[in-house]
Amino acid sequence: MPCRQPLLAAVCFLLCAAYTQETPRPRNTAAPKLAALQPALDSVRSEDLLRHIRILASDEFEGRAPGSRGEELTVKYLTEQFRALGLKPGNPDGAYVQKVPLAGFTSESHAVFVAGKQQLQLKPGTDYVAVCRRAVHEVKVDNSDLVFVGYGVVAPEYGWDDYKGVDVRGKTLVMLINDPAIADPDDPSKLDESMFKGRAMTYYGRWTYKYEIASEQGAAAAIIIHETGPAGYPFQVVSGSWGRENFDLRRPDKNLGRVAVESWINLDTARNLLKLSGHDFETLKAVAVRKDFKPVPLGVKASFAVTNTRREVDSQNVVALLEGSDATMRNEYLVYSAHWDHLGKNEKLQRDPVFNGALDNASGVAALLELAEAFTRLKTPPKRSVLFLSVTAEEKGLLGAKHYAENPLYPLVNTVANTNIDGLNQWGRTKDVVVVGLGNSTLDDVLAAAAQTQNRVLQPDPEPEKGFYYRSDHFEFAKQGVPALYANPGTDYAGKPAGYGQQKRAEYTSKDYHKVTDEVKSDWDLSGAVEDIQLLFQLGWRVAESEQIPEWKPGTEFKARREAMLKEKR
Ligand SMILES: [Zn+2]
Repeated sequence: MPCRQPLLAAVCFLLCAAYTQETPRPRNTAAPKLAALQPALDSVRSEDLLRHIRILASDEFEGRAPGSRGEELTVKYLTEQFRALGLKPGNPDGAYVQKVPLAGFTSESHAVFVAGKQQLQLKPGTDYVAVCRRAVHEVKVDNSDLVFVGYGVVAPEYGWDDYKGVDVRGKTLVMLINDPAIADPDDPSKLDESMFKGRAMTYYGRWTYKYEIASEQGAAAAIIIHETGPAGYPFQVVSGSWGRENFDLRRPDKNLGRVAVESWINLDTARNLLKLSGHDFETLKAVAVRKDFKPVPLGVKASFAVTNTRREVDSQNVVALLEGSDATMRNEYLVYSAHWDHLGKNEKLQRDPVFNGALDNASGVAALLELAEAFTRLKTPPKRSVLFLSVTAEEKGLLGAKHYAENPLYPLVNTVANTNIDGLNQWGRTKDVVVVGLGNSTLDDVLAAAAQTQNRVLQPDPEPEKGFYYRSDHFEFAKQGVPALYANPGTDYAGKPAGYGQQKRAEYTSKDYHKVTDEVKSDWDLSGAVEDIQLLFQLGWRVAESEQIPEWKPGTEFKARREAMLKEKR
């Protein structure tokens, strides 16, 4: 679920035009001698990409689930490719892998809501899903009071607190997905950009945040009401992935600090529950966007029983290193990342049980291999070192990236930037490139300068409300303060009618996203992907060569963390 499919939608051409004309000439970009880079750029080829994707997304690789035979085959394939390119093992211990201690767990649950003599028995998988991430076999929540807490957000920077000091310890919280959509006081038809970034989703809107804050508040259980629009995906995506084996990092505290039961209910079930309590969904949702919102006791008791089938799995991040050519700057690192894992197999789907994950993210891993090859084609490696990191368990909550960011193989303070690839463009060349989180860091400026050499322009995420910046691996680097760029394919397809990109994206989301049909298609045209990879190559080369190091721009939630980190170093 955390994952993002890469594709695209609407264009805001005016903004891009304004961006390219007004943005000052990038300060820290070294004007590359493109000729010298040409052999590297030319090594990026559609047929190589397709070859890698076909292998990684083949049924033989079984959908690349962590801890499966698919993992073994994938890790072996990546290691062989990196070794064949002459890249060094990325782990200072001499290995091409970093072990990632995971716990696999499959939760089965029962849930019932009681109000007086009335009872609402819920059907697992259809009405709701529930898991327990604690390292325990069984957990029970009995007769816990249900409390509606709106969006459940505590955001000091917006003067927002949905709890207002109400003690919800031991309670079951009912929460809305996404963050409060506050109307602009001057123009109620619009959202207030100064509150929760207006239309864009902030981290407060992410499902991961909801359970984190419920844990902090000491709740017994937390239930998110699923709404397809605000969530950004249908309920089937939630029930699909939560119904299967899930993973978490194995932690010394056994996750006992986490809320015991983490649950989603679909909107119809939520309506029935609220009816049971004499409330109405729309009315409650309306009060939830008010700053003076207070938690609403629902007068209903919730009981959950969750049993976990657990196993311990050592999964692996795969990592290779190109050492920098400068005696000093080689101790600084640029990290390219792309997750290799996907959803594995579902034996219940007899006709086609394999989630091949061709776009998500065999294509991104193929891009990582093509980038690695391109860097090995340079006469002289760039001054700084370049790390090629293919992480595990992204689909299970960015776990491989989280483990790397919490246990870095090279100091994060010396990690000058991360750029992540999650899904490639397979519908031809575009005149633009999307940057999710555009405006976050000076990496945008470097990318804009590189895009100019391709006569292309940058544009912001066409769907900021879906919170894609928080849904892939770069976010774990950003959370630790490392400037991280997440570029996606453009929307303005050369030689295609307006809206073509949006239409293709909508088709992918509804038909293939996290489904067994995410496979290589006969109409794929990877010429746009080749150009995007060449662009990311230029970005990396420029960052690895430049005197300046990338920085977060003012107003981003990550800047303070980086400054504190750099201060410590001095
Ligand atoms: Zn993905």
